[in-house]
Amino acid sequence: MARKLAAGNWKMNGTQAALTEAQALTGMFPAPSVEILLCPPTTLVYAMAEALRGTAIHTGGQDCHAHANGAHTGDTSAELLADAGATHVILGHSERRADHGETDAIVRAKTQAAVAAGLVAIVCVGETLEQREAGETLDVVRAQLQGSLPDTIEADKIVIAYEPVWAIGTGKVPTLDQIGEVHADMRKALAGRFGDDAKMLPLLYGGSVKPTNAAEIFAVSDVDGALVGGASLKADDFSGIISALQ
Ligand code: PEP
Repeated sequence: MARKLAAGNWKMNGTQAALTEAQALTGMFPAPSVEILLCPPTTLVYAMAEALRGTAIHTGGQDCHAHANGAHTGDTSAELLADAGATHVILGHSERRADHGETDAIVRAKTQAAVAAGLVAIVCVGETLEQREAGETLDVVRAQLQGSLPDTIEADKIVIAYEPVWAIGTGKVPTLDQIGEVHADMRKALAGRFGDDAKMLPLLYGGSVKPTNAAEIFAVSDVDGALVGGASLKADDFSGIISALQ
């Protein structure tokens, strides 16, 4: 069985004052039976990791550079994230792919760098609405998995998040059958790559997960958790999703 993970992606939201939301979660889940992760903006990674030190809640980044250091103004390497206290990093989010032209090859290089720095890489894949309507979903997701994962990577260093682009921040969610179909296909593709270890690799669903729909999504076979955007910003909302996963 794969470990279960509830991961929050704060995107470009959260000032110092928002750390109280992270602290509130620690009070609600002193000894959770699932992994909990918050990925704030880079400016808050150190402060959040410090605020959560000694608790069961992890801190992660939302992106990293493919190089460990050097002349890359404005970028943050996996090494720097790890030094700031991050344990995970989200890579290949569709907003990065769309806004920053990130290709599978770039995501692959970043994944390699993240793992080399000791971080768990949460690699995001997912189809656009056009691709779904053209019946291309499984092919697109398989190609992204193939292209975004380095050849030498080990299954226990990664998490995969299936995030249909059209479901992110829209309130639209695929049917449970559609989610189950993609997750089953991803597990199969990953088994071809990692063998039995693929069973241990967490497959998250992401896209408009709320406290109200989390339980039914988590009941879908091969869904091991969620990557949550909007509903991870407030402890009251995110706690409902975490409770549904426990
Ligand atoms: C995300 O940012 O990865 C995401 C899934 O966002 P939301 O939950 O707001 O749809």
